[in-house]
Parts: sequence; structure tokens; C-alpha cells
Amino acid sequence: MPELPEVETTRLGILPHVKGACAKEVIVRRRDLRQPVPDSLAEIEGKKIIGVSRRAKYLIVHFTDCHHVIIHLGMSGSLRIADPATEFRTHDHIAFTLSTGKQLRYHDPRRFGIVTHGIADDPLTHPLFAKLGPEPLDEHFDAITLKRALHHLQRPIKLAIMDNAIVVGVGNIYASESLFHAGIRPTTPAAKLTLPRLRKLVDSIQNVLRHSIAQGGTTLRDFLRENGEPGYFRQELFVYEREAQPCRKCGTAIHKIIQGQRSTYFCRKCQV
Ligand SMILES: [Zn+2]
Repeated sequence: MPELPEVETTRLGILPHVKGACAKEVIVRRRDLRQPVPDSLAEIEGKKIIGVSRRAKYLIVHFTDCHHVIIHLGMSGSLRIADPATEFRTHDHIAFTLSTGKQLRYHDPRRFGIVTHGIADDPLTHPLFAKLGPEPLDEHFDAITLKRALHHLQRPIKLAIMDNAIVVGVGNIYASESLFHAGIRPTTPAAKLTLPRLRKLVDSIQNVLRHSIAQGGTTLRDFLRENGEPGYFRQELFVYEREAQPCRKCGTAIHKIIQGQRSTYFCRKCQV
């Protein structure tokens, strides 16, 4: 599943190929994604792309005249820059033909993604963004903000940081990895964590995400590949999917539990 670093890598990957281009034609081959693709998507034809931004795991393509297209990659979505002469692959559901002579294609085998259109001075007023907490890499996300959000929560800290209302974009892999680097046991009740420990956690979340985005940068040319998906990266993981393997810090076997139907991995010695 594309996580925040993959979405940010996608943004950086497509940006130089779409910015400044006009959308000449919108081709919708399938409308039945997680939400139906609106007919109004065609209204961007003739408009120029002025930028691509990201909020949580949503990409926002900004057009002239306050039009925007919001894209969520869902479970299996990807974007690619293609030559319009190239045959569509199965699951290439939407294509934007650009004035550059290239096409931006949205591919999504499981169709859990979203491609929608809006007109607003501020696209962030869209209902999709209404309940989202702070961005983890934003300067406003710090230990004090996090403490305020957690002070009454008896929920385990891992589930709390995966809650988009508390902080966005910390998926299962990054939650396990961040808690390891912060030395915090994933089952700790969120409200129990002191400010210094939360400071460590914020630093870890930011470092893990930044590192991942930086690694993704090495795959940017893959957005131009004619076949296959953009080659996502796998950073060196310390605990995730390493059950029974030795902890990279202390050698203790990594332990696996289930929290909120998801696997959690941690070191019983390093994380207290
Ligand atoms: Zn350890």
C-alpha cells in the first residue's frame, strides 16, 4: 500500500513532467473507483497545471481558475508519465493528455483509490480533508501538540499515532519503526507518555519518514518507465516483519503482536 513517503515520491516524480502543462484531454476508462469519478473532471480540459501539493496521502493537482484534481492512491494505485501512443494496460483507468505530448496515467488494480475534481480558492476546504490532523513533517507538529492530543487517551500509543485525526500519514510500517527508534513499547497507553518521550517519538517519526522520502528520490526516473509500476523502495527496517530475528541494536528476538487487527513488531528489551 502506498504510504506517505511513496505518495510524496510520486508528487516529486510527476511534478517536473506536469507543471506548466495544459490538460488537453481527460480520458476516463473506468469511473467506479472508491468514489465514482465525477463527470466534472472534464472541466479541467484546456486548463494549465500550476502545481502539485500533498495533504496526508492525497495529492492535489492545482489548475488555473481554481480547479483542482484530488488523487488518493488507495491500496494499489500509481501514477505514471506515458507516451499517449503506448497501449493502455489493464487497470489504467484515467489518462490526462498534456500539452507536452505526454500523458499522466492513473493505474489501480484494486480500485480503492479516489480521483475527484473540485473548484475552490483553497482545495483544503474539501470534505475529504475535514477530519485530518497535522502533517508529521510540518513544523507545527511537535511534542506539545501531540501531548495535547493524547493526554486523555488510554489507547495504546501505536494505535494513537496511526489515527489520522491525531497525525496523518503514519502507516503500520512507520509506526512500528518510529516506536522502535524512540524506545517506546507500542502497547503503552498514549496518555502515560511524558513530554520528553513524546519529543523522542516526534523526532523518530520525522526521521523515519524523511529517510524514506530521501530513499524514494533515487527511484524518480521510474515514473517514466513504460511498463511496470514506479519502483518503490524498501528502506532497511529495524523491526517491521522481522519477527524472531535478532534486534539490530541488542540481539533480542523481535516480538510480534496484533493491535487493531494489524501486526506490531517490537523489541522487548529496547522498548519499554
Ligand atoms: Zn533490542
